[in-house]
Amino acid sequence: MSGLAGRRTVVTGGAGFVGSWLCERLLCEGAVVWCVDDFSTGSPDKVAHLSAHPNFTLVESDVSRGVPDPGNVDLVMHLACAASPVHYLRMPLETLRVASDGTVNALELAERYGARFVLASTSEVYGDPLEHPQRESYWGHVNPIGPRSVYDEGKRFAEATTAAYQRTRGVDVAIARIFNTYGPRMSLDDGRVVPAFLKQALTGEPLTVAGDGSQTRSLCWVEDTVDGLVRLACSTERGPINLGNDEETTMLDLARTVVELTGSRSTISHVELPEDDPRVRRPDISLARQALGWVPTMSAEEGLKRTARWMEETLAG
Ligand code: NAD
Ligand code: UDP
Repeated sequence: MSGLAGRRTVVTGGAGFVGSWLCERLLCEGAVVWCVDDFSTGSPDKVAHLSAHPNFTLVESDVSRGVPDPGNVDLVMHLACAASPVHYLRMPLETLRVASDGTVNALELAERYGARFVLASTSEVYGDPLEHPQRESYWGHVNPIGPRSVYDEGKRFAEATTAAYQRTRGVDVAIARIFNTYGPRMSLDDGRVVPAFLKQALTGEPLTVAGDGSQTRSLCWVEDTVDGLVRLACSTERGPINLGNDEETTMLDLARTVVELTGSRSTISHVELPEDDPRVRRPDISLARQALGWVPTMSAEEGLKRTARWMEETLAG
C-alpha cells in the first residue's frame, strides 16, 4: 500500500485483537507506529512479537484522559474501546467514556498536526436492523437505554463527534463501520461467538448457542478487516464505510460448522438470548468495493481452521 512509509501513526487500542494486527500491517508498510493502550481488554502479549521492531513503541495510557503526543503525527487510528459484549457490559461507564472523551482526545491530537483520523466504528450503530443487508445510508434501530447502548450509542456519539470535527474544524476524518471480525489473538474468554465456540469444541464442552440460534452474523477474517482499514487510511474517503464479509450465517449453523471443522464430539446446548441481541446482520459492501477496491478474500472455512489451529496451540500453552 503506497503512502504509509515513514508516516507517524498513533494506534489507540493497538494492543487489542484488531489493533495488534493493524500495528503489524502498518509496520510492514513502513509506518512508524505508536501503540497506545490501557490494557483494559487488550494486553502487551498481543504485540510482544512487534516489540523489537525499531519503528514500534508501546505506551500504556488511558485515552479517555488524554492521548500521549509523540509529535508530528500523520495518522491517528482510533480503535480504543471494549468490543466484546461481555467486556463492555462489565465496564459500561468506561466504555461510554472512551467512546466520548477518548474520541475527542484522539480527534484533538489529529487536529493539532493536521493528521488523518480514522474511527473504528461498528455495525452496532445499526442496532437490531430493520433494513437488511445494512447500507451506510441506514440510520439504525438502537435501544438508547438498553444494556448494549453503552457500546452502540457510544459509537454513535463517536461518529457524530468525528463528523462534527470534520465540519467545524476541518479535520481530515474517516469512519469505518466494522462488522464482526475474528481470528487469532482474540481473547479466549471475551465471550464473543468465535472464540467461545472454538474453545468449547476443542475442550469437549457443549457449544452454547444463544436462543434458537437463528440470529445471523457475517464474520470477517481479521486481516481482511485490517486491509480495509489501511486502504481507508490511505484514501481520501470519509465514509461511513462498511467493512465486513457479506457471507451471512446463523449462529446454529456456525456452531455445527465449528464442531465439524474441529472434529469435536461436543454437543450443542441452547442458552438464553441476551437482551437486544440483533436478529440479523450483513453488510452491503458496495461502497468499500467501489471506493477502496476492497473485498474480503478469506473463506469462512479456511479462516475458522486457522483460528482453531491458533487456539489449539494457545490452549496447549
Ligand atoms: P479489543 O477489546 O481486543 O481491543 C480494544 C483495545 O482498546 C484493547 O486493547 C483495550 O485495552 C483498549 N482500550 C479500551 N479502552 C481504552 C482506553 N480508555 N484507553 C486506551 N486503550 C483502551 O477489541 P477489538 O475487537 O480489537 O476491537 C477494536 C476496535 O474495533 C474497537 O473500537 C471496536 O469497537 C471496533 N470493532 C471491532 C469489531 C470486532 O468484531 N472485533 C467489530 C466492530 C468494531
Ligand atoms: N453467541 C452465542 N453463543 C455464545 C456467544 C455468542 O450464540 O457463546 C451469539 C450472540 O448471542 C450473538 C452472536 O452469537 O447472537 C454474536 O455474538 P458476539 O458476542 O460474538 O458479537 P455481537 O455481534 O453480539 O456483538
